[in-house]
Amino acid sequence: MLNIKQLVVKIEGIKAYSDVLRVFRMRLPENSGFSFAPGQFVMLSLPGLVDSNGRKIAKSYSIASSPNEKDVVELCVARYPTGALSEPLFRKKVGDGAIITGPYGMFQMKKPVQKGTIFIAGGTGLAPLMSMLRLLYAEGYEEKLWLFYSVSEPGMFLFKDELLGYSKSNDLQLVASTSSHNSEWQWENGRVTDTFPKYVSKLDVPKELQQFYACGPPIMVADTIKMLEQLGFRKENIHKEQW
Ligand SMILES: Cc1cc2nc3c(=O)[nH]c(=O)nc-3n(C[C@H](O)[C@H](O)[C@H](O)COP(=O)(O)OP(=O)(O)OC[C@H]3O[C@@H](n4cnc5c(N)ncnc54)[C@H](O)[C@@H]3O)c2cc1C
Repeated sequence: MLNIKQLVVKIEGIKAYSDVLRVFRMRLPENSGFSFAPGQFVMLSLPGLVDSNGRKIAKSYSIASSPNEKDVVELCVARYPTGALSEPLFRKKVGDGAIITGPYGMFQMKKPVQKGTIFIAGGTGLAPLMSMLRLLYAEGYEEKLWLFYSVSEPGMFLFKDELLGYSKSNDLQLVASTSSHNSEWQWENGRVTDTFPKYVSKLDVPKELQQFYACGPPIMVADTIKMLEQLGFRKENIHKEQW
């Protein structure tokens, strides 16, 4: 059922990963009644932010937090140098206000989530998948899951400690990769299309049944789907979001 709300939220935390990547933690008003499914997104706007025609500027951001964390949404935002929304958002401080409308989107988990399901993320594309993983683990999911996560630089590895924690305490097989590695990088080099084929023999679900959730830049998602099809996986089992 549609339960779309417009809410004034307060920035209660900002984690900077770099000059161009931040996680904003937004506090919702008490008893707002806001609820969402992992994978969904909100439209974010800022008080008084309008374009040259006086129209409100609002952009979509996937929710990274878990739905069971009440009254909070966490958004992972990449800044574009002339970004109409991201640039002014990066000037905001803890305590400042913003406006969210939502939730929206059909990129959601098909329940029950199959053992061995593979999550594939590029950059901020981790956000909706993070929400899915967080909810699954909060609900006690015990089966093996895979996360292939490619980042542009080692410093852009979102939620690293939490994901490493899931790889120890839960059966999360984490395969992180970057094309611009340094000597401290302990994971794979390259993009998901470079790393994934190395793991195909380790998967224990028949190819025709293997489920995927992929999210990232359109070119990365397109290349990933092409690779998966060439490897014999089924397109109808690949659920995707891209931006
Ligand atoms: C369903 C959905 C979920 C999304 N979730 C997220 C999210 O979780 N995190 C996130 O950071 N973004 C997300 N986005 C993208 C986001 O909505 C904005 O498009 C993005 O933040 C740029 O907005 P802006 O106003 O800052 O920049 P704009 O003013 O739109 O663009 C500024 C400049 O950057 C360029 N640009 C814009 N987007 C891109 C791009 N993707 N790649 C390369 N160049 C680009 C433009 O061409 C322009 O030159 C999502 C989009 C959708 C549709």
